[in-house]
Amino acid sequence: MSKNLTDLEQRMIALLKSNSRRTVLDLSRELEISRITAKKILSSLSEQGVIKRFTIMLAEDERDLVLVHLKEVEGLPKDLILEYFSLIDGTYLAVMYYENLIKVQNMQVLDVKIAVRRNINEDCMRMEHMKCDYCGKDIVEKPIKLQMHRKVFYVCCSNCERDLRKRREIMEGHGEHA
Ligand SMILES: [Zn+2]
Repeated sequence: MSKNLTDLEQRMIALLKSNSRRTVLDLSRELEISRITAKKILSSLSEQGVIKRFTIMLAEDERDLVLVHLKEVEGLPKDLILEYFSLIDGTYLAVMYYENLIKVQNMQVLDVKIAVRRNINEDCMRMEHMKCDYCGKDIVEKPIKLQMHRKVFYVCCSNCERDLRKRREIMEGHGEHA
């Protein structure tokens, strides 16, 4: 059951999305790969520009956010914007801290929405090029996520889910008594 690079990359992205503060050691443990491999994948992802697309936020930063719909972002101090979306109609939707709202008052603000919390739903993530952790086949449908002993597994169907659970229980059982 060898995982290809794309599969591992996908898994690492999923882990980082749910918690961007994971270390290389955490990642290597969770993915059951060596630290060297984890580091290699991580730097390859940032070289490819995949990782910089994520907004890295601390949990305490995810409160008191405002979504500001702007006509222009040019001229807006960069350090005010956490992230922004360029919209199809040529306008922008910027995410910023509530306390900075006053600083954009002379910009062309179209709308302001005040958020109380930012939540990320991991289950909606796109997962392409993933292989089943049990049978090793490509996962075509939405992967079933399993969390066991602080590790995350993805399987293709409920049969593989059941069998993987069984196998892991036996493995973990042996580990404890060894
Ligand atoms: Zn499977």
